Amino acid sequence: MHDDGRYDDPRLTGAGGRSPGDPVSRETNYQEWAVDDPRDASPHHPAGPAPKPDVSPTGAVRPVSSAPANVPPVRDPHDPSDGPVNAPTPRPAVARANAAVPARFEPQPPVSAVPHQPGASDAVEAPADTPPAPGFEDETDAATYVSRETPTREEDDPPLAMEAMRAVQILNPSGEVSMPRPDRTRVMCVANQKGGVGKTTTTVNLAVALALHGNRVLVVDLDPQGNASTGLNVPHHTGVPDVYDCLIDSVPLAEVAQAVEGIPNLWCVPATIDLAGAEIELVSVVARESRLSRAIEAYPGHFDYVFIDCPPSLGLLTVNALVAAQEVLIPIQCEYYALEGLNQLINNINLVRQHLNPKLDVSTILLTMYDRRTRLADAVEQDVRNHFGDKVLQAVIPRNVRVSEAPSYGQSVMTYDPGSRGATSYFEAAQEIAERGVKEPVSRNA
Ligand code: ADP
Ligand code: MG
Repeated sequence: MHDDGRYDDPRLTGAGGRSPGDPVSRETNYQEWAVDDPRDASPHHPAGPAPKPDVSPTGAVRPVSSAPANVPPVRDPHDPSDGPVNAPTPRPAVARANAAVPARFEPQPPVSAVPHQPGASDAVEAPADTPPAPGFEDETDAATYVSRETPTREEDDPPLAMEAMRAVQILNPSGEVSMPRPDRTRVMCVANQKGGVGKTTTTVNLAVALALHGNRVLVVDLDPQGNASTGLNVPHHTGVPDVYDCLIDSVPLAEVAQAVEGIPNLWCVPATIDLAGAEIELVSVVARESRLSRAIEAYPGHFDYVFIDCPPSLGLLTVNALVAAQEVLIPIQCEYYALEGLNQLINNINLVRQHLNPKLDVSTILLTMYDRRTRLADAVEQDVRNHFGDKVLQAVIPRNVRVSEAPSYGQSVMTYDPGSRGATSYFEAAQEIAERGVKEPVSRNA
């Protein structure tokens, strides 16, 4: 890594296992992808195992977690009537890139009130968990969908039976407490002033994972964009009581918190667009940095976890979150400039600790959108682990199409496709966080 936080990109320098004069094609090897892949099963796939939530006549999504019926069935590989997912004959490579693709992925109506925008995964489905290379996401012509990287290998994907077992484990239909509950409320601020690094995705999926496993969880959406509210399918249109009312008008949090449909033990304080004005309005409010802290302390019920989803800035909203929390969780995207700007965040955290909240600790770093096809992701991971040591969770979140599709269905990936690698990774991350919460806190060196 360079001093300024940049990395040499092996894709640009000709590294990555090939010498510059190497005649090996840069094109994606479609043949390698043509083998039937259990991870292929998408909600748009007629035989796909991904559970679709029940939709009531009113369009409301019924609980997914409590119904074991949502767990993808295990298919019999020897039963030819058991759908094409396990069909013994591999599809010819061309079928993947040409006419067969649109037929297999006919758009379906969305299952939630949130309209599903047909995206890359509808038009041309890359092998599951192998999303298009950056810059190719919107291509509808499969012929142009090429990667310079080595395609993901099939053996990396879980077989169907294992996927189904994981889905059951993640959905936890029995509702038993399988992730240890902390003795006191852990208030975790999910912060990184960079946008698009996975703060909201991390907040939503960790919260759902912990709630499905017996923890009582509150999500506070502190981003005026309201993405966490959208991801949890909580109404947050103008006029809905929201976190703005708590911060500016001192409305109790309990009055604005909404139960998340389908996930027991999970509540969300939504953010509406009103919150956009709060950053300025807070300036003249008494105790402007500790408004959220007071609101959380005054909450009458007990929570095991409170996750605060921060906006991509270091303004007063983020300061409120840092004052309210004991722990900071920083998602770091395994990409260029990953650590750039992180110093500024750490400095702010140190300032808040010195002046406003001595208990604040950077307890958790989570690597997100890890693309194992690039050496760059590896380099970023090594750098982050060297720098932050045991604060970095062992679980790493891969770049995974199911993770990015889930919000358009008003769901977390945990319920949208519980057998996917995205869901499994967030489940493992949640488990690590829960286990750390009942052990000695990790050393402080932020
Ligand atoms: P932030 O809250 O930091 O701005 P988001 O959580 O909204 O970031 O993520 C930014 C975008 O990246 C979203 O469209 C989200 O769906 C997508 N995304 C996040 N994590 C992943 C992942 N692991 N794989 C694929 N897409 C992801
Ligand atoms: Mg966000």
